[in-house]
Amino acid sequence: MRPRNYDVIIAGAGPAGSSAAAILGKAGKRVLLIDKGKFPREKTCGDGLTYKCLPLLEKLGVALDFRDQVFFRSAGYSITFSDGSQITVRRKMGDKEAVVYMMPRFEFDHLLFQNARQYESVFVLEEAMVTRAVQNGAWPTEIEVQANGHGRQSFAAPMVIDASGVASKIAAQFGLAKNDLKNYALTVRGYFDDIVGLDDVVEFIFDKSILPGYFWIFPIGPNSANVGCGTFQHLIVEREINLRHLLEDFIRHHPAGRKLKSASLRGPLKGGKIPLGMDFVSRVRNGILFCGDAAGFTDPITAEGISFAIESGIIAGETARDALAAGNFSEVFLQQYDARWQASFGERFSKAGFVQETMQKSQLVEYFSNAVANHPAFDAAMQDQGSQYEWMFKLKALVKAL
Ligand SMILES: Cc1cc2nc3c(=O)[nH]c(=O)nc-3n(C[C@H](O)[C@H](O)[C@H](O)COP(=O)(O)OP(=O)(O)OC[C@H]3O[C@@H](n4cnc5c(N)ncnc54)[C@H](O)[C@@H]3O)c2cc1C
Repeated sequence: MRPRNYDVIIAGAGPAGSSAAAILGKAGKRVLLIDKGKFPREKTCGDGLTYKCLPLLEKLGVALDFRDQVFFRSAGYSITFSDGSQITVRRKMGDKEAVVYMMPRFEFDHLLFQNARQYESVFVLEEAMVTRAVQNGAWPTEIEVQANGHGRQSFAAPMVIDASGVASKIAAQFGLAKNDLKNYALTVRGYFDDIVGLDDVVEFIFDKSILPGYFWIFPIGPNSANVGCGTFQHLIVEREINLRHLLEDFIRHHPAGRKLKSASLRGPLKGGKIPLGMDFVSRVRNGILFCGDAAGFTDPITAEGISFAIESGIIAGETARDALAAGNFSEVFLQQYDARWQASFGERFSKAGFVQETMQKSQLVEYFSNAVANHPAFDAAMQDQGSQYEWMFKLKALVKAL
């Protein structure tokens, strides 16, 4: 039986929400975890989990189950550039950073969801859409929900954690994101079986047709892969790009895509949106914390978001626990959340954000032009945004490969 009173309401049970719920459940806090879907459910993603996830999964107590259930451990990664050159970074003994773990989100998110709901004080409400947060005065915050078969309901708690992803209604309601198309990517992906000649590394492929953006082939087994592509939303609009057609052309004509030619597509191609980074005015309001994609925590260069979702979910859960202990839910008190995620991964983000921002500015062209003493080939390559983006990846991979 679900009670009426909660310490914390969490909107969204993806990696961010389920991680926050597990932290609070472990501390014995009464949590209502709401999701519009019914678990296990699909989530459009590349399904790649970097080494950064492992210590976080250990903290949540699911690392062993994850190791048992993971579909594929890549031997490293390869990047093919638009001029046909390729860099492959293979895992060396003891080098954890080059490993990418592959586990479809259908299974991975269910693992985290089950982990959260094992705690007696965590109550779940599935197939229920969070539509709005209402604050009369400061707190408690009332959360309005449209529940499948039960009409409109509302629940109140002194703390709310919004983990409802890129299309968060609460973040939109509070005007947190600036919603500039330049800060979002659109993507499509599908699962392909019976691939002949699949490599044991995750593949990123740059091509002029999609730069700044990329195609990916991420193996989930010896002959199966998650395959997709994506680029900035404003370019998709300006260039009238059809991502599905682009992916089909890639498979038909690109040397790296041809191995998929006789593969079979399992299920439909699905589209998804990614918030690319630090476009956010704030991630804290009186009584509310925002985490994961709802807070724009996705690397602006690589689009990695799962590890940041888990980590920000853990930090949000811990901050909510501390706020409950102090009986203080004010924005000022909750700003320790901002301080903690900044200390943990903010620097990396602001560097990536810096690169993304400068990539779009002519000063970067000038800077590199001077740095390489007007090398004509480099100079030419840096004249367009696509080449600049590709060079960022190239430099990053070169540093790793050395
Ligand atoms: C095509 C694609 C490929 C990607 N590839 C990778 C990758 O390989 N590796 C990587 O690290 N990252 C990748 N990302 C990014 C990654 O998917 C996200 O960063 C990550 O899912 C964020 O987790 P989250 O918990 O914040 O949000 P989500 O995973 O989106 O979870 C949000 C949850 O909230 C629920 N929800 C949404 N709205 C409501 C509502 N109004 N009411 C109730 N519930 C709601 C949803 O059903 C969902 O369960 C990719 C993204 C896309 C689109």
